[in-house]
Amino acid sequence: MKQLSLFKTTLGNYQLTVTPDAHQSHILFRVEVPKLTKELSIHYAYSPTEEKVEANVDKLFLKYQKDNHMASSDRAHIQSVRNLITISARSNQGFEGSCHRFESVGTITINNTSSTPGMNTGEIEPGFWDISFNLHTLVTELTKIDCTIQVLHEEELSVSQPITIKDISKNALERNKMDNLHYQKVELHSHTQHSDAIHTTSELVSEAIKQNIDWLAITDHNTLSAFNELAMENKSIKLIKGLEMTTLHGHFLTLGYQDQKPIDWTSIDRYNIHAKLKEMKEQNLLIGIAHPFDTGSPYCTGCRWQYVLESLEYIDFIEVWNSEDPHYSLSSVDAIGKWTQLLNHGMEIPATCGRDWHHSKTTKMPASLYVMAEKNATEQDILHAIKLGRSYMTIAPQIEWNINNEWTSGDRITLNDADEMVVNIHLTNATKVHVVKVESNLGDLVKSDQLDIHYIIDTIKQLRWLRVSAFDQDLNRILLTNPIYFTENESMN
Ligand SMILES: [Zn+2]
Ligand SMILES: [Zn+2]
Repeated sequence: MKQLSLFKTTLGNYQLTVTPDAHQSHILFRVEVPKLTKELSIHYAYSPTEEKVEANVDKLFLKYQKDNHMASSDRAHIQSVRNLITISARSNQGFEGSCHRFESVGTITINNTSSTPGMNTGEIEPGFWDISFNLHTLVTELTKIDCTIQVLHEEELSVSQPITIKDISKNALERNKMDNLHYQKVELHSHTQHSDAIHTTSELVSEAIKQNIDWLAITDHNTLSAFNELAMENKSIKLIKGLEMTTLHGHFLTLGYQDQKPIDWTSIDRYNIHAKLKEMKEQNLLIGIAHPFDTGSPYCTGCRWQYVLESLEYIDFIEVWNSEDPHYSLSSVDAIGKWTQLLNHGMEIPATCGRDWHHSKTTKMPASLYVMAEKNATEQDILHAIKLGRSYMTIAPQIEWNINNEWTSGDRITLNDADEMVVNIHLTNATKVHVVKVESNLGDLVKSDQLDIHYIIDTIKQLRWLRVSAFDQDLNRILLTNPIYFTENESMN
C-alpha cells in the first residue's frame, strides 16, 4: 500500500482571558481547513476551574439568588462554583458534534476513522470550520483559555497563479447588434468613509459629477451602508449600488443590488467560492474580479486573487486596470496577459478598469471606462453592456472603431457574414499616442503611428477575437478596447 506522508499545519493558536461578563455565551474560532484533511485536532486548556474564595462565592450567590429563586439558607450547601466550558464544531456541512465534559485540559480529534466521542467520524469537509468554546458557566474573575487548532492533510498547501481555472469553457453570450449606441463614462470601483476612503460619500459623488461621470458604482469593502446616505435618484449622476467583496483570498466587485442583502463575506472560503459566486449570481448581481495580480498576503492580504475557480461561469468581467496610473503598473501587464490568454482559449470575458477611488488629491492619472449604451439606458442596460464588453478603457485618448462600419466592441461576426473586412479606427485627443495596434488571437495585425486607420483583414479564417490598443512613446498601453469576437458559423452562437 502506498504510504502517504501527511503535512501538519497549525490553523490557529489562541490565548485569551475572559471575565464573568461572557457567562452564557460562545466564542467562535473560524479556521480554514485544507482539502484532503485526515485529522483535525483541538488542543485546549482553561484555568482556573472553580471559585472557592468564600467572599466571592457569597457575591455569586447574591448575584444569582433571585434568578434561581434560592432561599438564603441554600448558601450553606455551596462550597464552590465551577466554570464549565465545552467545545463544539461546525463545518460548511453543518453541525459536527460537541464534547460536553468537565476536563479543563485535553485534545479533541476529528478523524475519518475514529473521532473523540462526541464528535462525528467521517470525511473532513474542507473550508471554514467554526470551533466554538461554549461558556456555560464562567464564575472566576479572570479565566484563561488556550486553544491550538491543527490539521493533518495529504497535500501541501498549494500556491497558484491568479485566475487558475479548472474548466476553461464558458458559454458564449448572445450578442445582438444594436444601433444608436453612444459612449457613457462609467466608474465601477470607488470607496467612501463607509470603508477605508478619505472622502465622504457626498464628496465622492460631487467629485464624480465634476469629472462628467455618467454612472458611478460605489463599492465599499463588504458593506452597502453608504447607500443609506444617498438618494439613488440624482439628477446629475446615476448611481450603481455595489459592494467590493473583500475576502481573505481575493476581492471581487458585486454590482446592481436592489433590496437584497449582501451575502456574509466571512463565510467565503477557498472551497465554497464557486457555490458562493453562484449564490450571488442568483441575486442577479454582476460580478467581476478586482485587481487579480495585486501584491498579496501579508502586504495586502486578499488583494491578490488566490481562489482556484471551477470555471468562469459566474464571473462577468476582470478588472485588468486598477487604481491610478494603471498604465505604469506591472500588475496591469500581468492581468492583461492573463486576460489575453483566456481570450485565446475562447473565453469571452470582458476587461474593465476601476479607479479604486479612495481620495481625490492625486497627481496620478485615473483611467476611464467608456460603455456603449442607449442614451436613456437603465442600470441593468449598463451592467449588461459591461458584461458583453461593449466598452473600452483609456487614460486619455478617445476611440471610434468598427469593422465594415457595422460591428464594434462586444459584437460577434459570423465569418460568412462578410467577404471582405475592413477595420476602421479613428482616435481623438491622442497627442500621447505613439503606436496603435490591432491585436488578435493571431498576434498583432497592425502597428501604426496613424490616428486614422483603415485596414483590410486578409487572414480571417482562424480569427477568434480582435481588439485595439494604443501606446505612448514609452510603450505603456494607454487605451484598450474590448474585442469583437468571431465565429465560423451561426450554430456556434
Ligand atoms: Zn480591493
Ligand atoms: Zn477597492
